[in-house]
Amino acid sequence: MGEIERTIGELRIKIDRDLCVGFGDCVEQAPDAFRLDDEGLATFTNPESTERDRLVAACEECPVDALTVWNAEGEQIVP
Ligand code: SF4
Repeated sequence: MGEIERTIGELRIKIDRDLCVGFGDCVEQAPDAFRLDDEGLATFTNPESTERDRLVAACEECPVDALTVWNAEGEQIVP
């Protein structure tokens, strides 16, 4: 549970695990960046290996807005 955050290049991404419902849309879109853990909730794997646009697109897929993305200017770009 709780929130986990990573900075990947110019992006800051937060997973709100209290909101995550574990359908895995983000994992499907960016399997090198996200995975479902033992609790069935999204967590980071190696998001640095995924290109920026794919990361953003994967975060946009989240049906419950559990993934938040900020750009280099600190502007929220997802959701
Ligand atoms: S898409 Fe959203 S709800 Fe689905 S696993 Fe990823 S973070 Fe959780």
